[in-house]
Amino acid sequence: MPRLRPLLVALSLGACATAPPYAPGEPWSVAALELCPGVHVSNAPAATDYRGVIAYAPFAAIRGISVARAPVASCISSAYGPRATSRRVAFHSGLDLYTGAPRDVVAGAGGKIAFAGDQRGYGLTLMIDHGRGVATRYAHLSDLAPGVRKGATVAAGAVIARTGRSGNATAVHLHYEILIDGRAVDPLKTGD
Ligand SMILES: [Zn+2]
Repeated sequence: MPRLRPLLVALSLGACATAPPYAPGEPWSVAALELCPGVHVSNAPAATDYRGVIAYAPFAAIRGISVARAPVASCISSAYGPRATSRRVAFHSGLDLYTGAPRDVVAGAGGKIAFAGDQRGYGLTLMIDHGRGVATRYAHLSDLAPGVRKGATVAAGAVIARTGRSGNATAVHLHYEILIDGRAVDPLKTGD
């Protein structure tokens, strides 16, 4: 178990949270992550018969920074890696975290907002620079929290946005990336 203590978050689909399930500013990540029921999850990590991801740890320690692996109450609808569509195989550079209705997304770690705006395909997108070459990207958002703009500083666990389906998304989810030196890595397998 990590030294940080993640709060337990109910993973029930459809029920939209009316209040954030954590205190703003407190490091936060989904405590136990599941594969979404009823869908084929590409690149699915090893899971139990009940879809719980095996050997999941809520935080990745990367270059001494604790980064949330799932910064929204959600289930995995697609994981990191090559993903076949009907026409081609594309590389999926992040983790798709399905939320049903729009939900609060928190900063996976503290840092400075390096990008806030529309990005081709990604829709409304945020990028946070955590220092030491570590960054996180949040895509397909529906809106940003007050005060969230390029150059602003955010604390780990602070609400930064809500999930949506902007860009090329077909369902309300967060496309979440962890980047090291500008390269997206597997959020579930990178770090200690
Ligand atoms: Zn995605």
